[in-house]
Amino acid sequence: MRKPIIAGNWKMNGTIASGSILIEAFNNVLEGMDLSCDVVVCPPFTALERAVTLTRNTAIEVGAQTMDYHDAGAFTGEISPLMLTEVGVSYVIIGHSERREYYGETDETVNAKIKSAFRHNLIPIVCVGESLEQREAGHTLEWITSQLKGALQDIPKEQVSQLIIAYEPIWAIGTGKTATAAQAETVCKSIRDYIRSVYGHDVSDRVRIQYGGSVKSDNSKQILGQPNIDGALVGGASLVVDDFVEIIKAANMADV
Ligand code: PEP
Repeated sequence: MRKPIIAGNWKMNGTIASGSILIEAFNNVLEGMDLSCDVVVCPPFTALERAVTLTRNTAIEVGAQTMDYHDAGAFTGEISPLMLTEVGVSYVIIGHSERREYYGETDETVNAKIKSAFRHNLIPIVCVGESLEQREAGHTLEWITSQLKGALQDIPKEQVSQLIIAYEPIWAIGTGKTATAAQAETVCKSIRDYIRSVYGHDVSDRVRIQYGGSVKSDNSKQILGQPNIDGALVGGASLVVDDFVEIIKAANMADV
């Protein structure tokens, strides 16, 4: 039985003040709930420390949206895993399609970041996903497999079972176009099949696979009800209290 995980990617939105209000609102609702899923919020770097403080002794954990893979050095503008663990961050999103598209992340840097995250006891949320052109050309599964191969190169199987894979079709991110539950399930199942073929049943039964791409309160139940989908990586809707809470409720009810 895999515990569902809902993660909110706030992207470059809000301030420390507005993020604090959001977290207080989540805290108020979630403290009255019997939660059977993990909940993570991923604010911008500047709001991480406050987020950790506000979520102490609550069910919410905090993640970063990216990091560098070096521990320290001449990497102007970057944030290291040591800096994240110093403020109490537990998760880190790695290889988000926006990082790949705008900041030159590749499967190689994703791989280096996953290794670095594990060295520092951070749980990586590793993003993979195809473009619309790749989907229309029928190359989705082949592409996702190649991304996974590159991302997971030389990662030991115990670590593969602990990380989170987020399947995020690029055409569905921030566009309002969600993959149908069947489309999402097909890819998430093929990800699990690939993991099984390389690392065995034990790992594939444990690894958690999220879907991400315009998940909202009104489509979350169907998506999270799929057998190979263990949660969601949520962008826009994670900034709206009612929406995010409804998605958490859907994960709570999901039978995974
Ligand atoms: C994301 O940023 O990972 C994402 C899925 O965004 P949205 O939910 O807004 O599509």
